[in-house]
Amino acid sequence: MASNLKMVSIFIIFLTFLCTNALSQCEDATNNPCNNKSKALPLKIIGITVILITSIIGVSLPLITRSIPALSPDRSLFVIVKAFASGIILATGFMHVLPDSFDMLRSSCLADNPWHKFPFTGFVAMLSAIFTLVVDSMATSVYTTKNNSVAAEGGEVVVEDREMAVASGGGMHFHGHSHGQQKGAIGQQLLRYRVVAMVLELGIVVHSIVIGLGVGASNDVCTIKPLVAALCFHQMFEGMGLGGCILQAEYKTVKKVAMVFFFSITTPFGIALGIALSKTYKENSPSSLITVGLLNASSAGLLIYMALVDLLAADFMGPKLQGSIKLQIKSYAAVLLGAGGMSLMAKWA
Ligand SMILES: [Zn+2]
Repeated sequence: MASNLKMVSIFIIFLTFLCTNALSQCEDATNNPCNNKSKALPLKIIGITVILITSIIGVSLPLITRSIPALSPDRSLFVIVKAFASGIILATGFMHVLPDSFDMLRSSCLADNPWHKFPFTGFVAMLSAIFTLVVDSMATSVYTTKNNSVAAEGGEVVVEDREMAVASGGGMHFHGHSHGQQKGAIGQQLLRYRVVAMVLELGIVVHSIVIGLGVGASNDVCTIKPLVAALCFHQMFEGMGLGGCILQAEYKTVKKVAMVFFFSITTPFGIALGIALSKTYKENSPSSLITVGLLNASSAGLLIYMALVDLLAADFMGPKLQGSIKLQIKSYAAVLLGAGGMSLMAKWA
């Protein structure tokens, strides 16, 4: 009898411990000995600079492969770099953005009803993937119709880039458009790559800003240093993924620079925003959990759809890779390498 009572009391103590733990997560950690606002600020400013530089390096790396003369004529290297980049984007969706969203929308800081009664993350991610498909297919058919009427009038689609033929290797076959208008098809494929690169950048933005916000809003000197180091690798790797997609979009230099700049600025911007809002922004407040959780869920659906359909399937089902099993195996190794590396980053940010 006495031992039973002891067991029950231990159980109750354990339960209250769990509950207070869950509760304290939603409150401010004001009694954290590591908290030091004046010491944290210079660390954050160093973080902004270092992350900005590493992001630029990461996103520029795949773009530089193009200007190395020894590498640029080698088309299989181009395909392999793209496969590596696609793997990174896929892992960003599956391993970073989607789990983040699950964590946020299932957080104990949110009301039980409705947040714990229905898997909102999966639902929103699914809807977002369907919506991406809708936009993808509608935009393609509008472009095709417009393009065909131009072709019928005897007009010609302007092909501005010489390397475009390399880029147009994949996808054409997969999406099943062969209207005999070779240039039209190439132009369409290129346009597709350009849209993909831009939408991907938007899909990544939410995650990049949110991880920056976390650093900016925190005054915990003990965690900022390792977190900034992790974010440097994170942004560098993710930058390589995006860089690979910018590479195949064949942008002109000005636009390329704009895309590189826009991506590189996101996490530093998040940190700056976090510093500015550190008084009002609470990572665990219901409104920020819901907003960021839903945004993350929709970018997860978008990233996963685009990585699988527009990047991986388009390339692997395209004539270039279908023509060589050896190149396919190399490319799969690159996909696994990219996806594996980005998955490892999920340990920290
Ligand atoms: Zn991440």
